[in-house]
Amino acid sequence: MSTRLSSFVVVATLIGVPSAAQELPPGYLDPAPVLQAAAEAIGVANLRCVTISGSAYAGMVGQQRLNGYEVDWPRGERLTNFRRTMNWEAGTSVEAFDREPGLNPASWKWGLGWRGGTPLQRNSRQLFAVNGTHAWHVDGQGSAPVAAPPEDAERWQLDMWLNPHGFLKAAMMPGADPRATWRWELGEMGRDGATVSPEKVTIVSITVLGKYRVDATINSENLLQRIHTWVPDPVLGDMNYEHEFTNASYVDLGDGIRFPAGWHHHQGWDDNYQAQSVNAGHNAFGGTLADIRANDCDDPVTVPDAVLRADFPVEVTTLEVADGVWLLGGSSHNSVAIEFDDYITVVEAPLDERRSLAVIDEIVRLVPDKPIRFLINTHQHHDHIGGLRTYMHVGATIVTHWKNYEFYTRDVLNYAPRTLAPDMLALWPPTELAEGYQYETVRENYWLSGGERSMHVSYVHPLPHVEGMLVAYLPNEKILIEADLSDSRTLLGHVQRLGLDVETIVPIHGLPVAWSDFVEQLDSGR
Ligand SMILES: [Zn+2]
Ligand SMILES: [Zn+2]
Repeated sequence: MSTRLSSFVVVATLIGVPSAAQELPPGYLDPAPVLQAAAEAIGVANLRCVTISGSAYAGMVGQQRLNGYEVDWPRGERLTNFRRTMNWEAGTSVEAFDREPGLNPASWKWGLGWRGGTPLQRNSRQLFAVNGTHAWHVDGQGSAPVAAPPEDAERWQLDMWLNPHGFLKAAMMPGADPRATWRWELGEMGRDGATVSPEKVTIVSITVLGKYRVDATINSENLLQRIHTWVPDPVLGDMNYEHEFTNASYVDLGDGIRFPAGWHHHQGWDDNYQAQSVNAGHNAFGGTLADIRANDCDDPVTVPDAVLRADFPVEVTTLEVADGVWLLGGSSHNSVAIEFDDYITVVEAPLDERRSLAVIDEIVRLVPDKPIRFLINTHQHHDHIGGLRTYMHVGATIVTHWKNYEFYTRDVLNYAPRTLAPDMLALWPPTELAEGYQYETVRENYWLSGGERSMHVSYVHPLPHVEGMLVAYLPNEKILIEADLSDSRTLLGHVQRLGLDVETIVPIHGLPVAWSDFVEQLDSGR
């Protein structure tokens, strides 16, 4: 009798009265009280929407870190008269700022990927809006809105929840599934809000938009210091993306509401102290946005008709520039396919996989029976390498300048899982990525030949905005293939120094140009 009773008691203890704490595996905390305290500390329930104003900087994500001393994404023109209204109830965010026109590609927001080859920004006032799954850009007050592609719309929508109030509101939504853990953070030199001595913090992780795992670091004062997630990027895969806020930057708005005025934003990991050739951008946006207004959000953000109707087809246009040499255009960036006796060589794999697969299909249509054996990569700006993995997927060897090798091997052409937007290489990894014939690295000169055809790839000596730049020359056809050098004296000097006999420039941006026109344009612009 007594034996039966005691075993009954033991069972009841194990399964009968579980407390929240007992259900959690080791290492985890109950997120509910942490979220509750954080929401109370900054008055989440009292803030429906917010407008923040001030001035900010923007990093050109995907442009190259500059030589030696510079450890960051290059800074773009300053964003002045910055103003952003986020309305979490409506799912809208509108950002506007002034930026010097003529220098940046139109439709480039901040830190969201530099798109070279698109028209330049024409007016000072720039507006970027998102409403649900639709996003658009307006270059100058009164100009026609330009629809942003769906991946931008999703990222801008996500970004709206990556601030203290947004995060805590998202944490209360269905499907957020909060989980929490703890760590001691040491006094890191760089982290905003870092203390000199170690501090115990809680990290709460939630799911946003049904897809993104977002975590917030909450300190002993119940303030959110860092909100971190990953976003899909054609070059880097699941890319680090985070906003940081210092304790001191929280401004008291009355009604129990506090909102951070100091913003600091990262894209990519902080690789400041790695070798120069490794992609090392980090700071992508930051500013003092100290003019903060609560609950002033009666203006509805209506999606323009043109944006509702917009679609984004992939178009590939084909121009045969010489026998067996095709310019594959139809977008902001071209690829060039060159047929040799036994194989095809392609110069440039720009933008993303969607683009590259369409270009590859067209090449297969043009030349069905030869492998795409080599992919010549001109330089490492991200808008020029988003399709490198796709060419590796179809079996091409990547030819690039040796200064790009570390970055590509470590960060781009790897087996790292891509969970947010798996590409061909992630879905169907080839065998022996590390041992296969994946790279040819060029120092100064490199030749490809086969049959009648030959091609000379050469290194263009240091340029102000990019290191490791290659151009390709077809001596028989007198064609020079270049990227981003169409107004460059460096290109003229390079061609003269190497004694290349060029008749036509076939560019990665735009249409072919006669060499004589290029030289004339340089002279008149002097
Ligand atoms: Zn470019
Ligand atoms: Zn470039």
